[in-house]
Amino acid sequence: MALLAAVSSNPVPNRVLPEHLPRLCVPVAAAQAGEMIALAERAARSNSFLEFRLDHLSQPAAGLPKLREFLAARPELIALATCRKKQSGGYFRGSVEAECAILAKAAQAGCQWVDLSLESAERAGMAALKQLRARASLMISYHDYGATRHLAAVERRLRSLPADIYKGVWQAKRLEDNVKVLRWGADLPAPRVAFCMGEAGQPSRILALQAGSPFTYAAAMEGAETAEGQFDVAALQRIYRIEEINRATRVYGVTGHPVAHSLSPLMLNTAFRRASVNAVYVPLPARHAEEALALAAELPLGGFSITLPYKTALLRALDGVDALARQVGAINTVVRSAGKFYGYNTDVAGILGPLENRTALERKKVLVLGAGGAARAAVFGLRSRGADVHICNRTPARARQLARAAGAKTILRRELAKTDFDILVHATPVGLFPKVRQSPLATEEIRAGIVFDLVYNPLETELLRRARQRGAQVITGLEMFVAQGAEQFEIWTGKPAPRQEMYHAVLSELQSR
Ligand code: NAP
Repeated sequence: MALLAAVSSNPVPNRVLPEHLPRLCVPVAAAQAGEMIALAERAARSNSFLEFRLDHLSQPAAGLPKLREFLAARPELIALATCRKKQSGGYFRGSVEAECAILAKAAQAGCQWVDLSLESAERAGMAALKQLRARASLMISYHDYGATRHLAAVERRLRSLPADIYKGVWQAKRLEDNVKVLRWGADLPAPRVAFCMGEAGQPSRILALQAGSPFTYAAAMEGAETAEGQFDVAALQRIYRIEEINRATRVYGVTGHPVAHSLSPLMLNTAFRRASVNAVYVPLPARHAEEALALAAELPLGGFSITLPYKTALLRALDGVDALARQVGAINTVVRSAGKFYGYNTDVAGILGPLENRTALERKKVLVLGAGGAARAAVFGLRSRGADVHICNRTPARARQLARAAGAKTILRRELAKTDFDILVHATPVGLFPKVRQSPLATEEIRAGIVFDLVYNPLETELLRRARQRGAQVITGLEMFVAQGAEQFEIWTGKPAPRQEMYHAVLSELQSR
């Protein structure tokens, strides 16, 4: 440890206790020191806790004077220095001694925290760790970029080393890995930061704070992620309300595959915030439907939304299913009550609500285009209100089957240009982004007073544009999306949903995309 000893003595920097650390740590990584500092300048405008990934620098030691200058001008910042060796998943090619020496110099440059990998800490030995801890608070970290495995062994190894925070990060392959990692390390002698990498591990990046991690990592901005599955600061603060998550926070989520681009987290978290409900709604990307249910049993989950392709798969696995959802043959909402899981279909309310805001449905003549999941919700819902429903589908046999089951009628495409309806409900993906020029019907086939397109991306579909030209009253798919989400909110919380706020949150996101 000659290099470490060679670092001139330095007053111990101000200690920041783990419990006083900000909840988000933003990594800053660049090959050149000037670039790293420029990134840090930008990140520091909205974040007070930065991790300097010195191992990304082509010459880590040479970057330290710039770091010192930067931190001296910003005493309010909390800086964590990392110079991770290649075999621990970083870019540093020097020895463990050199790694420790750089971290000691980083402490001297103003970093209050340093991160040393478990492998390096074991090699460095107790005396070196003691010297490092005299200069800065020490986090000893373990990363497994391949899988979630050997958790107990890692805990044993960490336990024998002195640190101010322990960190364990594993690559998640499936949702249940989140549960293992969130439970990991609770008995370690210092606080632990534990979460999973990868898309399947995303829930743990948020729920880590609920499980006791003092902080979680976030990219400074979209596109600046340093690890797979990392959220950016804006998403964690504005959507997931990371500052407010605590042990009492109820957890909800959306499961399906894929769910990464779902707008449900934005919509439901907006609703929780507006209605002052201590809850968070996270993506739960499942490989199969039962995986979501197994996770729900393990996590303090209050309920979850189900999106494609699992809306039918869970019907039989639940303790109870609402009668209308059973008729429709699909569920999109699960609620947990006294340890049991119950299923609902709020797509029905998502279709009936916007229509009933405009007209009574009894005896109305309605054309439903499509015979898939959304069409089934429309047909059974409309029939339950006494509407006269006609189904037209690309595959006529499916239309006939649905009509038989729901007491509806079928109509052939060639008859549409000469048949009038009160309402038209479009329930196929035609016109969905990116094929936004497509319309399921020619203009002369649109013969209804109200046209409801369930597609909501784009907001104004080609079908709605044509319907408007024909003088019809139009309803966008966004209204359905918000109405089905609002119904979920009400099932879960028993409170009236803040529909306006939910609508505007999703609308502005869609408009900005
Ligand atoms: P689905 O179960 O896969 O059903 C798709 C239906 O569309 C089937 O009837 C299918 O006909 C028909 N279809 C597919 N491609 C077609 C094409 N090129 N031309 C004519 N018909 C075609 O899907 P889903 O869950 O019902 O969803 C349908 C659409 O509803 C989605 O794309 C989505 O935009 C919208 N939706 C919106 C919300 C919301 O909240 N706003 C919620 C759910 C769904 P075949 O029987 O011949 O295959």
